[in-house]
Amino acid sequence: MHISNPCSLRAARLNDHMLQVPSLPTPPASCLNALDKLQAEVDACSDFASRVVEAKKLFKSNNRRGNATFDEVKSTLRSHAQGAQRCAYCEDSVGDEVEHMRPKDHFPEECFKWDNYVFACGPCNSPKGNRFAVFEQGTDELIRYGDPKWPKGSPPPPGDDVLLNVRHDDPLAFAMLDLRTFRFVAMGDIDQRSIERYRYTFIEVLNLSRELLLSARRTAYHDYKALLGDYIALRDGGAPHEEVVRTVEAIKRKGHRTVWEEMKRYHRFEWLRKVDGFAAERFDRAPECFSW
Ligand SMILES: [Zn+2]
Repeated sequence: MHISNPCSLRAARLNDHMLQVPSLPTPPASCLNALDKLQAEVDACSDFASRVVEAKKLFKSNNRRGNATFDEVKSTLRSHAQGAQRCAYCEDSVGDEVEHMRPKDHFPEECFKWDNYVFACGPCNSPKGNRFAVFEQGTDELIRYGDPKWPKGSPPPPGDDVLLNVRHDDPLAFAMLDLRTFRFVAMGDIDQRSIERYRYTFIEVLNLSRELLLSARRTAYHDYKALLGDYIALRDGGAPHEEVVRTVEAIKRKGHRTVWEEMKRYHRFEWLRKVDGFAAERFDRAPECFSW
């Protein structure tokens, strides 16, 4: 069967914005106050270079097990993570590193801002490092850190961020997962600037179509489909209520949530039927699953 490019689907707002990290809960006030104090120490430095040095020094000395402030930060980040504390970027490996979405090398004034933190894994966090880019004002050209217009060691030039912020942006409004190849593709109805943000984030910086991730997403797809089949069989077969609930919880707690969200989006647009009729039939029989 010929299937045209699914990225012609329009961007749909999802029930549960996958890859987007929840904003709540926030850490307790005592933790946020302690972060503010650390930030004030950085902000008190006289120039950009010394603010960067101070931010990195204070982050290193505080981001340790047993530090009450960062234990609270991590506990809250853990509650935001999907599945078994998966990385906010790849959704595959354990996310156990406090990652600054806006790197402390460029934004020392946000080093201790709660809103700038997510849990990421080493394989995502290390290559991301301090890579960052802004849209040049007036031209919308990308200026990457290290370019002549943004020399190393200098503060970022004025301009909007190119990298998607997984707390503020819904990545699935920019990209969709192709459920045949399990690679991300740009959404079909987004403007040029959004295409640049998709490309820079998903491909250039995070490389979210790594081979390992493709096979993990493929496995997750089949797991979600099987669990949905189990749920329908239990629900219709008179199984004890707890058994049915356990299966729903298993779906909600699984990693690679993007796969599940994309299955639902495909179904809404009648795409799933073209790709996998058996999966589509299960969604037909369990419409309640759209809220999971
Ligand atoms: Zn990762």
